[in-house]
Order: sequence, then structure tokens, then C-alpha cells
Amino acid sequence: ISGVIVQLPIPKHLNANKIINTIDPAKDLDGLTEANAGKLVNGTAELVSCTPKGIMTLLKEYNVSLDGKHVVIVGRSSLVGKPLISLCLNENATVTVCHSHTVNLSEYTRLADVLIVAVGHPKLIGADDIKEGAVVVDVGINRTAEGKVVGDVDYEAVKDKASLITPVPGGVGPMTTISLMENVLISYRKSLKI
Ligand code: NAD
Repeated sequence: ISGVIVQLPIPKHLNANKIINTIDPAKDLDGLTEANAGKLVNGTAELVSCTPKGIMTLLKEYNVSLDGKHVVIVGRSSLVGKPLISLCLNENATVTVCHSHTVNLSEYTRLADVLIVAVGHPKLIGADDIKEGAVVVDVGINRTAEGKVVGDVDYEAVKDKASLITPVPGGVGPMTTISLMENVLISYRKSLKI
């Protein structure tokens, strides 16, 4: 066994933290054990949570430097929002984190050079919520009543105002899958000590 993930969310009566921390940190493909979460803050993590890792790969691929940029993250889950804080800080971004208790969300999102939205709420972000030319990363996966998969950002409304925007589906999702495979390889090589 080269790696292990806990497919979240798990039923509410189970303690996700307790279960995740039974994983050997060397095989923790989502980087969610306390050991790996701590390393991420220190900038020494080898296994980084797959969705945030995929987002960083995507930004690098499109030459979006975060150095000196204002990154606004909407959502503070352990799986997406929190790892992104450290990853963006490690790239010398100025980071703002918004969540369900944030008052006047739009005031923050409009300041973003790079806006990353991971909430699970269709059309939470519209054209008025972003700055002209912002880079928009939509992590959300939501199913509409018609069975269509959409993100958290109103893609049609935002696409002409943003300089870059990830589609849903076909944006962050495939990057998550690729990052998972990368992490399997990292973990496998570590087990062979190569
Ligand atoms: P979560 O439910 O654990 O966290 C949601 C976060 O959004 C919380 O921090 C909450 O405070 C915040 N939030 C809720 N309502 C808000 C509001 N009105 N304004 C601002 N913030 C608000 O979810 P998660 O696991 O982080 O996932 C978020 C979304 O991303 C979901 O749609 C999920 O399906 C999707 N997701 C996609 C991928 C992918 O590969 N593309 C991977 C993981 C999660």
C-alpha cells in the first residue's frame, strides 16, 4: 500500500480527525494528518492536500505569480481553504481568508488579484464581486436541480471581467486527480527510499 485517503465527508457520528490521524504520515496522500498539516505551515511538506496542490500547479502552468499579490480565499475547510493559506503564503502572497461568518464578503473578494472560491454554493460569486482582470479559481462542485454540475462562481457573468477563470467541470477537478497520482508516486518513492 503506497498511500491512503479518507474519502470525505464521512458520516457525522464519526470523528474525521481521529480517523485521519490513524494514517501513517508517510502514506497520507491528502496531507491531512496533524504531522503533515504542521509541515505544510513550516513549508516542508512533501505530501500536500490534492486540491490545493492542483490549484498551485495550475497557477504555475499559466504563469500566475503570487509574489506580492493579494490572494483572497473563500472557504476555510481543512481540505481546501486552510492548506491554501500556507501554500499561498509560501509563494509570498498577501492572503485574506473569508468564510461563513465573514461580513460583507464582496468587500474582500473585490480586492483580490487572485480569488479562490471553495464553498459549495452555486453562483456565490458574480461579476460585481470581482475586480477587473482578477484571476478566478472556482473549486466548488454543485449539482443543480436539472442535474448540471456548476461551480461557486457564475462563470458566464464573470468570464469577461476575469483575466483567467477555471471552468466547472474541467478545471480544478482534474487537477485534484492528477495531484493525487503525483502524491501516490511521491509516497511510493519514499517507501523505496529513492
Ligand atoms: P466545506 O463544507 O468543508 O467548507 C466550506 C467552507 O465554505 C467553510 O469554510 C465555510 O465557512 C465556507 N462558507 C460557507 N458558506 C459561505 C458563505 N456564504 N460565504 C463565505 N464562505 C462560506 O467544503 P470543502 O470540502 O472545502 O468544499 C468546498 C466546495 O469545493 C464544495 O463544493 C466541494 O464539492 C468542492 N470541492 C471540489 C474539489 C475539486 O476537486 N474540484 C475538491 C474538494 C472540494
